[in-house]
Amino acid sequence: MSIAKRLQEIKSELPASTRLLAVSKFHPAELIQEAYDAGQRYFGESHVQELKEKVEVLPKDIEWHFIGHLQTNKVKYIAPYISMIHSVDTEKLLQVINAQAEKCGRVIPCLLEIHVAKEETKYGFDFDTARELLQSDRLQSLKFVSVVGIMGMGSLTDDENQTRREFASLHHFFQEMQSTVAPQFKELSMGMSGDYRIAIEEGSTIVRLGTTIFGERQY
Ligand SMILES: *Cc1c(COP(=O)(O)O)cnc(C)c1O
Repeated sequence: MSIAKRLQEIKSELPASTRLLAVSKFHPAELIQEAYDAGQRYFGESHVQELKEKVEVLPKDIEWHFIGHLQTNKVKYIAPYISMIHSVDTEKLLQVINAQAEKCGRVIPCLLEIHVAKEETKYGFDFDTARELLQSDRLQSLKFVSVVGIMGMGSLTDDENQTRREFASLHHFFQEMQSTVAPQFKELSMGMSGDYRIAIEEGSTIVRLGTTIFGERQY
């Protein structure tokens, strides 16, 4: 099936409140161009160097989202143009993004990555640490980042109930924070190829799909 056809089918499943982020990591620029030609404008990448190479050759009106673990020393390379960083996993990283965004004279929309999966290797805040940060006045001094929501990944499991519980807990936290944090807090980024239907049912506003659109990645 063509990429255009897959995009069309996925989009027909999404409610108006859910955006599709096309995760293009490890896929060549030609395939991204194909998705672009079919109307897709939001793409997600998880490696700074790979992203840089793609940005140079692809259309300038693409909105690039960073979704991978981001090292503080690499923030400066993406700060000039990145549309959103989904994977802010420490307060330190948020401070560095703020400093680099200031140098570029822009405000970078960020999501706090929340760890809900069983796997221990995944990055992210736990709920309590994220809540403390979101409710503190430390965020107010970071004028060049806008924390617009949270991102989460479900466990690698076939147990749909487990996945649903994890997404529901993210949604619950998201709503709790929405009522106490500033009005720009509106994005709940959750759902990948294996679990996005559950994520939509649990209130996702951005699903991040790679394999469903582009097929298996060639590492
Ligand atoms: C790779 C990746 C995705 C997309 O995964 P698929 O299973 O191919 O849809 C989504 N989110 C993050 C954070 C990823 O690293």
